[in-house]
Amino acid sequence: MLKHFIFNLNSSHVFCGQCKIICEHHLKSRIRIYAGTTAPKGEPILAICTKCKFKQIYFSQEFTRFSPPHSPNSIFKIVGFSRLKVNDWVYMPGDSFVGTIKSRFRLKDKEVYNIIREDGSETSYSTPVITDYAPHANLFFRLLPAYTYGTRIGDPIFHIHRNTFGKAVGLIYGKNDRLAVQLADNSIILLELPPAMQIAPNKTLIEEAQHALKTQLADEADGIALSANLGVLVAQGTCKYLSSISKLKNILAQIPGVRGVMDNIVVQPPERYSDEIITNQIKKLIWSYQNSVFNVKLKCENGNVEINALCRNETTRRELPDILEKTPGLITLSVNLRIKSEDEFEQRNKALKMAQNLRKNPALQGTQIRIAYLDNTATLEGLVTSASQKQAATLAAIWSNKNLKIINNISVIDHIQGNAYIKVA
Ligand SMILES: [Zn+2]
Repeated sequence: MLKHFIFNLNSSHVFCGQCKIICEHHLKSRIRIYAGTTAPKGEPILAICTKCKFKQIYFSQEFTRFSPPHSPNSIFKIVGFSRLKVNDWVYMPGDSFVGTIKSRFRLKDKEVYNIIREDGSETSYSTPVITDYAPHANLFFRLLPAYTYGTRIGDPIFHIHRNTFGKAVGLIYGKNDRLAVQLADNSIILLELPPAMQIAPNKTLIEEAQHALKTQLADEADGIALSANLGVLVAQGTCKYLSSISKLKNILAQIPGVRGVMDNIVVQPPERYSDEIITNQIKKLIWSYQNSVFNVKLKCENGNVEINALCRNETTRRELPDILEKTPGLITLSVNLRIKSEDEFEQRNKALKMAQNLRKNPALQGTQIRIAYLDNTATLEGLVTSASQKQAATLAAIWSNKNLKIINNISVIDHIQGNAYIKVA
């Protein structure tokens, strides 16, 4: 199973449970994680100690952030940069109080936190708006021991009783599950994790997991074998639908005392579909999706689909793979969506104006066409039912704005006969 970790993330200094020191670990993942993107929650990360070669599985949500390989200055996050929520405890260095966040909101160029002090008085702080690339994104510190629960490797901490700053450097699972923390004087302390974070014994985990699958995913339960190690549930075998794998992972992740889930499951669909049918079905789903996805590059070979595209927001990036994986006949699905925000309002307005012109065109009634602007290029994407409609779209776009380069990536899909999936609106 460890052979699946083929992508190098980077190196990170982590506390080694074997060497009992903080030392460099090579971190590897099973999926490619691009700089500037967020790894999915629950994604397993393999950490290999460079001193003793000890291998440990962590999960993406157990880390704060890493630098991507070869570009140490552009820090990217594994999970959200700001996990500060209303009611979280906060401590600002240089101040003399501990408080809780009453509310937070974002202005154009700053984030504002309203904080209630322990003595009941109120104050507010603002920080610059933090982007994925901000090197010092987390200005706040986890307060230990109060916030041992949920503290991640890499989190800056402030130990209240010791009155000192530090950093979380490891999670050690075994007899007693503990958080390793390096303090400002370089000493390391191990704090026992609270009961809610302690992992369950292997036998208990497997029994609970088997029960959960039989009741919640009965259709697939027979094909799946389960094992457990240090809070990690491993599922192996076959299932009928690609979408069952994420269902399975969700079900198993809910079991108390589980840190994360690893799967090695092969999809064996009960019915086979041609790549053309799968491709067209996916295109239809993409273009009917309410948020804009553009510059789509789609490859489908024997039911293995790979999609590279740009999108406008994080919600789309998160939701689209879940929508697409329900496509019948899929064996594997890899969706790489990169977020490209609208650079200028002007570009947006141009796109809207062009879309209006296309909508008015009688030849294009009933079509689904989207327009994306990027670097003075308008890319038309979507679905039409004839080649002449596709051509009409190009002409209408040129007519709408003669100063732009037009790329027409519209798909014509009516030539597929007898395919219920394409004909259903
Ligand atoms: Zn080691």
